[in-house]
Amino acid sequence: MAEGRTSDPKTTPPVKGPAVTGGPRALLRELRAVMAAIGDGQQRLDRVVRIVAANMAAEVCSIYLRRDDRTLELCATEGLRQDSVHSARLRIGQGLVGRIAERAEPIATDDARNAPGFRYLPETGEELYASFVGVPIQRVGEVMGVLVVQNTAAKLYGDDEIEALEVVAMVIAEMTEAGAFLGSEGMEVGRGRRAGALRVPGRAASDGIAEGTAHLHEPRLVAFDPIAEDPETERARLAGAMAGLRGDADRLLDEAGRARSEHRDILETYRMVAHDKGWARRLDEAVTSGLSAEVAVEKVQSDARARMERVKDPYLRERLADLDDLANRLLHHLVAETEVEAQSIPDGAVLVARSLGPGEVMDLVGRVSGIVLAEGSPTSHAAVVARALNIPMVIQARRVTRDINAGDIVIVDGDRGLVEIRPTDSVLEHYRGRAAVVAEERELYRSLTDRAATTRDGVTVRLKMNAGVLADLPALAGSGAEGVGLYRTELQFLILDHLPGREEQARLYARVLDAAAGMPINFRTLDIGSDKVLPYIRHEREANPAMGWRAVRVGLDKPYLFRMQIQALIRAAQGRPLRIMFPMIAEATEFQISRQMVLTEIDRLAGHGHPRPERIEIGLMFEVPSLIHAPDSLYETADFISVGGNDLLQFFFAADRENDRVSARYGLLNTAFLGFLRTIVRRCEAHGTPLGFCGEAAGRASEAIALAAIGFRELSVRSSSVGPIKYALMQTDLAAVSKAIEDAEAAGLTSAADAVDAIIAKA
Ligand code: PEP
Ligand code: MG
Repeated sequence: MAEGRTSDPKTTPPVKGPAVTGGPRALLRELRAVMAAIGDGQQRLDRVVRIVAANMAAEVCSIYLRRDDRTLELCATEGLRQDSVHSARLRIGQGLVGRIAERAEPIATDDARNAPGFRYLPETGEELYASFVGVPIQRVGEVMGVLVVQNTAAKLYGDDEIEALEVVAMVIAEMTEAGAFLGSEGMEVGRGRRAGALRVPGRAASDGIAEGTAHLHEPRLVAFDPIAEDPETERARLAGAMAGLRGDADRLLDEAGRARSEHRDILETYRMVAHDKGWARRLDEAVTSGLSAEVAVEKVQSDARARMERVKDPYLRERLADLDDLANRLLHHLVAETEVEAQSIPDGAVLVARSLGPGEVMDLVGRVSGIVLAEGSPTSHAAVVARALNIPMVIQARRVTRDINAGDIVIVDGDRGLVEIRPTDSVLEHYRGRAAVVAEERELYRSLTDRAATTRDGVTVRLKMNAGVLADLPALAGSGAEGVGLYRTELQFLILDHLPGREEQARLYARVLDAAAGMPINFRTLDIGSDKVLPYIRHEREANPAMGWRAVRVGLDKPYLFRMQIQALIRAAQGRPLRIMFPMIAEATEFQISRQMVLTEIDRLAGHGHPRPERIEIGLMFEVPSLIHAPDSLYETADFISVGGNDLLQFFFAADRENDRVSARYGLLNTAFLGFLRTIVRRCEAHGTPLGFCGEAAGRASEAIALAAIGFRELSVRSSSVGPIKYALMQTDLAAVSKAIEDAEAAGLTSAADAVDAIIAKA
């Protein structure tokens, strides 16, 4: 049995099975002839099973292909009853064949009837056959079917036969992918191109709707010829690509520099894996058996993915994930070599990928209309950046890379977390209708750009936008926002692979200030930690990172880092007004120390000839409930306070904002929370401290209106929400909303949502 594989227990003493007559390469040559021959898909499949049966001296050879997500169908057989072809079906997980598909592992037994899980398909007549060996037909870890060989005599198939059968299965998978079996009776997998409308559910990661043609980020490599005539050539190609890959790993490590960091540790492991002899040996074996270098990589990658599914240990899973990643890179080296490189992205395409890094998302700005990922989490940095850039994104659309062809029409519904692949006319019409409404609304909001957000009863609310990367800034002018209420400086850090030095930061902030053309920007100092971990800063694993060593706590403990950012901000201002605020302040002294640091740095830099900012305003984020009882001095010295509703809500209700199961239970319109916010408003009013709100909730109409009703006069929302919120406020009689909230509180209701919505509906 090949390394890492398991097989069901054998019940009789092993007797060696028949060898592959003529060797695996002869068999592959015959398969290639099948591919080249004229005929329809079914004829090809029939020939394949005949050839394999003959070569393996087997009485039966059958190919089962996946009919749909749950079912396998017998599509061709040599030896079983022909009338069972396309009628015999098995569920994934059912019988030996179903189990092979489920676990993506071979099964060999010399006593099939007594093997665990055996299920007899009477229509096939297979009860005659005692020995059985089956292997998954898989491509890049995705099981497309099962290839089975059976014999009446109780023989045990050994590793060599299993290996040979796996190689054949790999070729069948490639042939399937290349469309060689198209036309075989209604087979969904017998496709070169996948067809038919499909709705793939996923999770919404960045809202909005996009329509475009699919561009596959890691184009599936359809190897035109999975079989290589000359293993030596393939071995040399593989060696070249391996050398390239190892070169990459070494270079990355060199670039990571001398300092010890977690990033460096990761790269070291990466390099170790790239040099792993076992991996190289498995690749070499696959090439020796007659596969092309690309298909050999895919074969080894499929094995690694199948193992990854089963491994529970997180460390081992990570190593296997490294291998998977390296296999992808290796494929890219091979593909680049044969110049089948990824095409440039067509304008307005929908990018489809397994996963993406935040830097890659940044690169896509203005080039793609939407993004679909098979993996990812809503809090991943890729999602954070997509939201910041207003690119609709759906994540966790499992197997989407399998179901989409490059060039297919795709709709990304980032509002509902759905992907419509090759949509029907009626679905397209529905979405285009929605898009038309959205476009009309956008026109309306654009017409309000220069108007103030004044409610019907004359209350004006200042609307600002949230930003965090340079690409956000162009939206400022057209959004109708009066500045940036929250500039998340850490986002730019997240997409870099190194800690930006003072000069680099200063250049960046100067560009932000230039782009804002005099509009105020609240630069929030680094909020790293929690889910925002910088790969190049060592960070201990914490049980509760949201409540751990993050934000200003890191800044205060690492004054060098903190001071560097403050200096960069002061230098960037070049005498212009500057607003800085600190995240996660939990007690007054943290603010006082941080504030003093800014003032000291201004003096110090002035001593070196740098101009002082024309005006310096130093504020804090109200994200920790303790501040409600902070001494008056905090409110007196803060030049402004911005409520970070995302964190405040999570700490107020003790409900992790990243955990949908709990975070969805509580909302801003909960009367207890509104009462708390009202107390913040009163404390700020008592000291004349300007107050704003910059959490996600302010981007939703009901919540924004409720915030205004309890006294907030500044809200900072995503650029795309400025127009809708302005419009909603302009329709509102704020006094009526205030009364509705008070009534809900007086009535002892848990939530004021219904009361607020009822007023909005009347407007
Ligand atoms: C918040 O907590 O509300 C906030 C705006 O900060 P972040 O979402 O970046 O934690
Ligand atoms: Mg926060």
